[in-house]
Amino acid sequence: LLEVTGLRASFGDTPVLRGISLSAEPGAVTVLIGPSGSGKTTFLRSLNALETPQSGVVRIGDTTVDYGAHPARRQLAALRAHSGMVFQAHHLFPHRTALENVIEGPVHAQHRPRADAEREARDLLARVGLADCGDRRPAELSGGQQQRVGIARALALHPELLLFDEPTSALDPETVGEVLQVMRDLAAEGWTMVVVTHEIAFAREVADQVAFLDGGVILEQGPPDRILTRPREVRTRQFLRRVL
Ligand code: ATP
Repeated sequence: LLEVTGLRASFGDTPVLRGISLSAEPGAVTVLIGPSGSGKTTFLRSLNALETPQSGVVRIGDTTVDYGAHPARRQLAALRAHSGMVFQAHHLFPHRTALENVIEGPVHAQHRPRADAEREARDLLARVGLADCGDRRPAELSGGQQQRVGIARALALHPELLLFDEPTSALDPETVGEVLQVMRDLAAEGWTMVVVTHEIAFAREVADQVAFLDGGVILEQGPPDRILTRPREVRTRQFLRRVL
């Protein structure tokens, strides 16, 4: 479902992605780990054209973007339409209710009928355990609840791929579990997911593959047990010692 080849990106003169390739089967959960500044966020944002790397190819489903070939806006939009992104901090519109936040994309970006979008949004909010919270504004929700609204909002776009950028790192420890549980449920339902996280226990339990990024390259990747329990690279071992 996902195939990335040779992504290279830099900010000014500083290379941030130095040739990253990765692929994922439908239904697979890929967890990206790595030290701060290793390029995880930039890589994730490149998968849905929130960043436009200098070169490299991203294919999601039937849409392929070759960043080196100056893709047209239309192509970038097509790529973006395949994935739903859940950000580190929730990015909800503060003056809109949870329900309004969830229907924003379907109604305004995808031009779906409002009544349909609302019906589906209620189902999605129920699915993330927020059946009674549709009328609340973000400030009236806990951090974990806000993040679950963010997940419902991503699902409302009917993406093929879900992208999570450190979805729990801005949360109070007591609300981390509820967000991870929703993610576990989505994985069990067969969603294809790419997750940047420092939650190593989650990676061990849910991931089909783990990739360790360091200095803009994937230093090693493989099944969670191989990477997290028996890493081959010194840098991976050092990183895991710090976060475990
Ligand atoms: P973290 O875990 O801290 O979020 P990361 O692995 O996600 O780190 P990135 O956020 O992808 O890393 O950043 C990689 C490098 O690119 C960092 O050195 C960062 O300072 C730099 N960088 C990221 N975004 C920009 C930007 N918009 N302009 C300039 N430099 C940037």
